[in-house]
Amino acid sequence: MRSLVTGGAGFIGSHLVEHLLDVGDSVVVLDDLSTGSMNNLAKVADHPGLEVVVGTILDPVIVRNVVLDVDRVFHLAAAVGVKLVVEQPLSCLRTNIHGTENILMVCHETGTTLLLASTSEIYGKNESDGLTEESDRILGSALKSRWSYAAAKGIDEAFARAYWEEYGLQVSIVRLFNTVGPRQKGRYGMVVPNLVGQAIRGESLTVFGDGRQTRCFSAVEDIVPALVAIAESPEAYGQAYNLGGSTEISILDLAETVLEVVDSASDVVLVPYANAYGPGYEDMRRRVPDNSKAKALIGFVPRTGIEAIVRGVAGSMRESVAGEDWQMAQARPARNGLPGTEH
Ligand code: UDP
Repeated sequence: MRSLVTGGAGFIGSHLVEHLLDVGDSVVVLDDLSTGSMNNLAKVADHPGLEVVVGTILDPVIVRNVVLDVDRVFHLAAAVGVKLVVEQPLSCLRTNIHGTENILMVCHETGTTLLLASTSEIYGKNESDGLTEESDRILGSALKSRWSYAAAKGIDEAFARAYWEEYGLQVSIVRLFNTVGPRQKGRYGMVVPNLVGQAIRGESLTVFGDGRQTRCFSAVEDIVPALVAIAESPEAYGQAYNLGGSTEISILDLAETVLEVVDSASDVVLVPYANAYGPGYEDMRRRVPDNSKAKALIGFVPRTGIEAIVRGVAGSMRESVAGEDWQMAQARPARNGLPGTEH
């Protein structure tokens, strides 16, 4: 099997690439290296089954060339991270809507199976005790860029569903809830690497708002095999599946866990949302997945607890300081929209 992973140099994408190579696939990565990095692929850099194309999903010629070359597509390329979305709303909307539309169009033309990565963000401010795939979406004002990521991903899902309904495109959707793990960066707003980095450097841990908002963090090593299992389930076509952690934790308790695991003497400071993300910022108080649909389909049960997740992030962060400037020689730009041939 030959798989394309868009966003394969990103945090989740690079873990998926390693897993696919491990189970015997050959893999093409399409990534524009905007938030991803070749460093994320360091462990598999010399694998003969890996090909990396540096290019954007916004270029339909590049997309067509790479999709033509594979049997299935995992579409993970997106502008993600609350901080990035708030700071660069226009490019986020373009990438997340037009880029995904390019992928869908080409998969339809070529009859290629597709897994689309979506997000728990689409539920917005719905604080239900166990969000199901049918739960309502409660979004704030369309003029607040904080909600544009959820809006764009909602459009992506609707596009995917319409391609399935009208053309029979073999597309499945996964909604990821706060996936965390080694190589994730805090730079774009993700709380676990941000707090772990602060604890390691001996800085104050910045908890936004009152810190009583909750999330259910899941480990990337639990999520990646589930992505493949769902992609390989024909019953999943046209459907969406939640994939999240099973334990709800407040951000204040998360900060305490980080201090314990990292063994840090840092303190914890509460930072008003306006200072972190600008005035008028809205957060969700709670976001709890009901994973039963994915459990029924593929037996999905998240196994890794928050302490082990934090330990994994801390370990990888300490390692990456040593290898910061590593660059992969095989990385090459897509010339004239045509991917090269090196593997
Ligand atoms: N958060 C925080 N400190 C940080 C980064 C984030 O307290 O340094 C908060 C953020 O406001 C949110 C929660 O942690 O309430 C999870 O944030 P993240 O951006 O990781 O995920 P999302 O908001 O998409 O759930």
